Amino acid sequence: MQNRIPKMVYADAKGNIFDHPELCMAGMSGTVSVLPEDVELIPLPEDSRLFTMPAMPPVAWDAKKKMFVTVDEMRNGRTSHRIQAVAAFMAPGYVRTLLPACVYPANKAHLPLWSYTAVGWDEERDCFVVAATKVDANTNWNPVNYDDRTLDPLVRKMLQEMPDNRLLEQLSRCAVDYHCFAAKNLFYRRWEAPLPTSPVCNSACLGCISLQPSECCPSNHDRIAFVPTPEELCEIAIPHLEQAEQAIVSYGQGCEGDPILQAGTIAEATRRMKAATPRGTVNFNSNGSLPDRIQQLCDAGMDSFRFSLNSVREDLYNRYYRPKGYTFADVLRSVRCAKENNRFTMINYLVSPGVSDAPDEVETLLRFVADTGVDMIQMRNLSIDPDYYNREMGVVGKGIGMYRLLQLLKKEFPRLQFGYYNRTRENFFPDGFEKGWPVSG
Ligand code: SF4
Ligand code: SF4
Repeated sequence: MQNRIPKMVYADAKGNIFDHPELCMAGMSGTVSVLPEDVELIPLPEDSRLFTMPAMPPVAWDAKKKMFVTVDEMRNGRTSHRIQAVAAFMAPGYVRTLLPACVYPANKAHLPLWSYTAVGWDEERDCFVVAATKVDANTNWNPVNYDDRTLDPLVRKMLQEMPDNRLLEQLSRCAVDYHCFAAKNLFYRRWEAPLPTSPVCNSACLGCISLQPSECCPSNHDRIAFVPTPEELCEIAIPHLEQAEQAIVSYGQGCEGDPILQAGTIAEATRRMKAATPRGTVNFNSNGSLPDRIQQLCDAGMDSFRFSLNSVREDLYNRYYRPKGYTFADVLRSVRCAKENNRFTMINYLVSPGVSDAPDEVETLLRFVADTGVDMIQMRNLSIDPDYYNREMGVVGKGIGMYRLLQLLKKEFPRLQFGYYNRTRENFFPDGFEKGWPVSG
């Protein structure tokens, strides 16, 4: 139960942020305003950002009236001015449990592709608080580890070493222009480095960061425009696997189409990497749309797979992914195929409060985990306008609570791991997590 409710925060027209003297913070689960519970309020993580929700008035909890109220304006002496809601975009590693509470007008333009989280001001702790929980302790991805002053000489040096490699040229732009941390890792020769391969995709996700129809929100990055050769992939990946600390190379890291459509090239490159060195981890992130390609990649020596899903309900999956030429059943077959081949198998679960913790989703997810035996669920905040997503998913009502969902999964499947980032082979099964736990059915 709620003991101490933080104050609502709001912004004026210029984006200056204030805490309200009386009204309390609310959040939203699906389409319903709710009070955050103590257990789900944590200080705003370092390196998070605050956004204003343009022309969207905040919804707050009025403790005196014991009701939720919309706050359109604030008085300043005799004048009043219109205000707008504020949302947090959290540093990675945290999953949000509530959306920002505000009035989302039906005819507004879609918000850019970020994940929006409920935020308030805690007077006692003297800090912003968010409705969220930490799901991964890996600190490698902290912005403090990515100082561009040390990066530029490394980029120049590697480009000189591999002057004809188109993929390296692309990754240098990713690192320097897009500030992609994964691409920067390649030049720092450490941790997880990306291997983008695919200019095309057989899904048309509502929130694809690499391709958006012109009437929607802008995509964050341009897709790679060519398919690299196995030689180009290996020239970059093998030294990384051989030398990097906690070395991972990952296909399908974000701003490309889906690498499953380049499985032949990837299988060949992976076979050569595995022949060249026993060191490091080769990972494949994908929509998992073509199960026979997953078998091909297992045969080539892929170590781990991460399959993206916004929902384990076929209807909601189809509404978001809009698959072309494959079905949800194919994705399930891919997940099973990876597990049957004894590969570390993860779900990139694109979560949104009210959808992911809806009673039907929870029930289906419990069945999905039991049936497939996935090793890990990466809880990723879906980056999309929350109102647009709720409407497209046909959400009515609220969820059981995101942290209750996590508790339930943990109770039912003690060996299921949660996280946010991919793992090296050595860390697939940390102490307390066994390999090959029994799968029902
Ligand atoms: S995730 Fe995007 S920006 Fe980063 S390396 Fe891949 S394609 Fe480039
Ligand atoms: S599967 Fe990935 S690349 Fe394809 S449309 Fe969806 S987000 Fe974009």
